[in-house]
Amino acid sequence: SLMVAFALGALADLWADFMRASGAAERVFELIDRVPAIPASGGERLAAVQGRVEFQEVRFAYPTRRDVPVLKGIHLALAPGEVVAIVGPSGAGKSTLAALLARMYDPQEGRVLLDGRELSTLDTEWLRQQVGTVAQEPMLFATSIADNIRYGRKDATDAEVEAAARTANAHEFISRFPEGYHTMVGERGVQLSGGQKQRIAIARAVLKDPRLLVLDEATSALDAESEHLVKEALERLMRGRTTLIIAHRLSTVMGANRVVVMEAGQVVQSGDHSTLMGQEGLYRRLVERQFVAA
Ligand code: ATP
Repeated sequence: SLMVAFALGALADLWADFMRASGAAERVFELIDRVPAIPASGGERLAAVQGRVEFQEVRFAYPTRRDVPVLKGIHLALAPGEVVAIVGPSGAGKSTLAALLARMYDPQEGRVLLDGRELSTLDTEWLRQQVGTVAQEPMLFATSIADNIRYGRKDATDAEVEAAARTANAHEFISRFPEGYHTMVGERGVQLSGGQKQRIAIARAVLKDPRLLVLDEATSALDAESEHLVKEALERLMRGRTTLIIAHRLSTVMGANRVVVMEAGQVVQSGDHSTLMGQEGLYRRLVERQFVAA
């Protein structure tokens, strides 16, 4: 009904506000950009990837703060192609979990597995080719739009770059620039909106064609048109790929196969939106708190 739709819309906005206010999940890609103490190569490269991911009793503390446990025994399995939304208060460990999936760090205890193989037995460079990421505020290079997209796969042809841009709902805005795909971005080029940057990052990930995705959903508000185009592009990108999404919007959470609620380094709830709303617990409080805060 319209009433329900209205309530959900209001809820979604409040959710975004709450997540913004909590300063949620800004760091995953900072983590991913860090130089890790992980060997870059050596180890196995799997011939084919199904995309099954398992965290088995994972315990982790950052190397700089060994006395502060950040993940305290995480047990979580993602089936191939499953979309799992992670929610939880700031500092719960959501970004850290995502960073472990790309093997930015190794757990102190427990294991992270891809298709049953422990990540530490796999070739890191190869592994990272299997993991696509889209950040809240994607990093673009001071080069052409085409080269920014091609960063997803260096040998892609112009036709492949354009096809990826179309899938990412980026072709249209790119074509409107006088220089099209040759348009320079960054300080000496065009300034792109947040939604446009995200669609470039999505095109990059489309070109990379990884089996696994780590998405850090934008908390900052995009205009309605951009919001819709980004959402549609993300849905296309996620299709058939195992996806871990750090979610800030109720609509995303409701579209996920499963929601995992984290608090203080532990998974405290897991289920779909309506199941979790039917339980006493953090999830309902997170949703209701924002609703009441209006
Ligand atoms: P947010 O939603 O605010 O991003 P989060 O749930 O993603 O939070 P994490 O970023 O994973 O949480 O952080 C979990 C804990 O680890 C926090 O206490 C944080 O301060 C700490 N932490 C994060 N990154 C580092 C780091 N590089 N070195 C040391 N401690 C860190």
